[in-house]
Amino acid sequence: MTAFEYAPAPESRSVVEIKSSYGLFIGGEFVEPTDGAMFKSINPATEEVLAEVAEAGPADVDRAVRAARTAYEKVWGPMPGRERAKYLFRIARIIQERSRELAVLESLDNGKPIRESRDVDLPLVAAHFFYYAGWADKLAYAGFGPPGRPGAEPRPLGVAGQVIPWNFPLLMLAWKIAPALATGNTVVLKPAETTPLSALVFAEICQQADLPPGVVNIVTGAGATGRALVEHGDVDKVAFTGSTEVGRQIARSVAGTRKKLTLELGGKAANIVFDDAPIDQAVEGIVNGIFFNQGHVCCAGSRLLVQESVYEPVLEALKRRMTRLRVGDPLDKNTDIGAINSASQLERIRTLSAIGAQEGAEPWSPPCQLPDRGFWFAPTIFTGVSQAHRIAREEIFGPVLSVLTFRTPAEAVEKANNTPYGLSAGIWTDKGSRILWMADRLRAGVVWANTFNKFDPTSPFGGYKESGYGREGGRHGLEAYLDV
Ligand code: NDP
Repeated sequence: MTAFEYAPAPESRSVVEIKSSYGLFIGGEFVEPTDGAMFKSINPATEEVLAEVAEAGPADVDRAVRAARTAYEKVWGPMPGRERAKYLFRIARIIQERSRELAVLESLDNGKPIRESRDVDLPLVAAHFFYYAGWADKLAYAGFGPPGRPGAEPRPLGVAGQVIPWNFPLLMLAWKIAPALATGNTVVLKPAETTPLSALVFAEICQQADLPPGVVNIVTGAGATGRALVEHGDVDKVAFTGSTEVGRQIARSVAGTRKKLTLELGGKAANIVFDDAPIDQAVEGIVNGIFFNQGHVCCAGSRLLVQESVYEPVLEALKRRMTRLRVGDPLDKNTDIGAINSASQLERIRTLSAIGAQEGAEPWSPPCQLPDRGFWFAPTIFTGVSQAHRIAREEIFGPVLSVLTFRTPAEAVEKANNTPYGLSAGIWTDKGSRILWMADRLRAGVVWANTFNKFDPTSPFGGYKESGYGREGGRHGLEAYLDV
């Protein structure tokens, strides 16, 4: 039953001016791609074309790496940390000033609700630049200096080749670029094919901040562009976030070279609810864990483990809460769940959900009317899921939750760890001692207690096993960009 209908509350689209076409950002300016190839970026909520974007081929990638090398050797590498910090602070402030525009752009290109791009993505993007700006002149004290020379600066690596996914386009850019620049490296970054626009506006922000040419280069394109970048012989460091499959390919191509590598890959996190947890709070955490950003989150709580004794009340409360979720226009400030990022991702979610039903699990979704155009998937939970089911093992990367049960803490640990991944986990309980006992045993890079999907630039993030290696964020995030 709905107490009242919501009136539409759209954020204004006019705060962002999208150009009809974007070139590659190389050496501080926008340039045409060598062979003139272009591709289109669309709004996944309407399938409307937003802009044409240049597709970088190997010659363009080479040009970008050379620009980054020159900037590294002539300007950015030799520049004192306190000077680099000024540029990073300036970028952070411009991001804050332009945050409304960037939030609208991100929602248009990605499909995520404006509430999230405005209140989560953009504040975190600015926070990452502020945080790493603060480190730029303190690297000698970060604990990575040359042995036996306290107070000496650790050296940067050189040119970083960075490839990012489409789920948090600008935030993943910030996670990659802020620590790289703070430590004195220059970068060539490839955004995802479906979400290049905020990275291109970030390039304009680099111009606005007077960042020396070549320190940041943005090469747009598809998987082949990313591949040309990570395989380029003059790249010193590769940082990748995306699927485990592509991560594996990259690890193979980098093996045997001098390149340093960090991989942030998939996940299949367990969100574990004990019988002493405050149920309403836990239900909010379950919803945030799997429906935040349409479930396009590597650390999403996609496996719910509920203690058997509270299974019924938790499920009932969860279903009740799900009937209140509003799916629709990402630019509407009341929207909870926006559009699926692409037709191919929608296809993947549909396929895995159909397999879940075929394997005997039972799907449930609240009644909700999906828009006619664009890519949409109703929030869905599967009950009767066993650990062997594919929906309990594979990353669906969509608003689909698999519900399993357990009886004892030991069983919860065993089930939570029974996955090839190890990125994150959540624990809901009233007992602090149980949180510590569980956190010690869960094989996950991040363990949230009585909360979920909380991010902070000071906190390291990364995985075990097939979730990748290396840490981003915090002091640990500096190490990946230093010669230590
Ligand atoms: P990918 O891993 O293919 O994409 C991530 C980034 O890598 C994109 O920029 C992509 O370019 C680029 N890329 C693709 N192939 C190569 C290559 N051979 N060498 C270098 N870079 C490459 O993820 P998808 O977007 O295809 O998503 C597929 C699945 O991956 C999802 O369903 C989800 O399960 C998982 N995924 C996990 C993420 C995570 O953070 N854990 C993030 C994204 C996806 P392009 O955009 O052009 O393909």
